Amino acid sequence: MRHAEREETVHADHVAGLAGVLRGRAVGAIQTTARGEPAGQAAAVRREAARAGVPVIGAGPGERRRIGDLSWEVLWPRRPPPPGPPSASGEDANDASVTLLVRAAGLTVLLPGDLEPPAQRALLAAHPDLPAVDVLKVAHHGSAQQDPALLERLRPRFALVSCGEDNPYGHPSPKVLAALRALGSAVARTDTHGSLAVTADGTVVASG
Ligand SMILES: [Zn+2]
Repeated sequence: MRHAEREETVHADHVAGLAGVLRGRAVGAIQTTARGEPAGQAAAVRREAARAGVPVIGAGPGERRRIGDLSWEVLWPRRPPPPGPPSASGEDANDASVTLLVRAAGLTVLLPGDLEPPAQRALLAAHPDLPAVDVLKVAHHGSAQQDPALLERLRPRFALVSCGEDNPYGHPSPKVLAALRALGSAVARTDTHGSLAVTADGTVVASG
């Protein structure tokens, strides 16, 4: 794929859903990582948000917010991205994923975006008291790139994998699914189970 084309499709799995997220919902603000990459998609997010009249603000490290019974803490990225041109591969952008520890209805949920192992290790080092969680949205669509020490620490009751049916990347990795099951996690995946919902009584409901 030529560079320009690649630039407009990499991370589309995160950005292209914005219109659907905004449709039919009252949204007060959109929080993003400070890494506006690729530039074309970052601009598209700003346009879409402006059209909907929703402000775009950065997610700051250590930030804690609460709405009703829902609270969350921004665990990552720890600091603004380093200066210099963005990477063509998108890996640096993956490691700038906003990572949230969410608490709702007595459940803890970790949402690590597309973090790769270098940032997964740094996340654990930066948060030595990171707790085991009820629910983990497995990083990077269940790719093989998972730090075993982080999975062991999180030891999720439920491991949710968001990935497309018959995706060309081979997500999720069978090895990672086996590692999660060995930790006692119940694994659910959107490619085979359909849309997933975690209910307040701590069960996972699948539409498929
Ligand atoms: Zn992704």
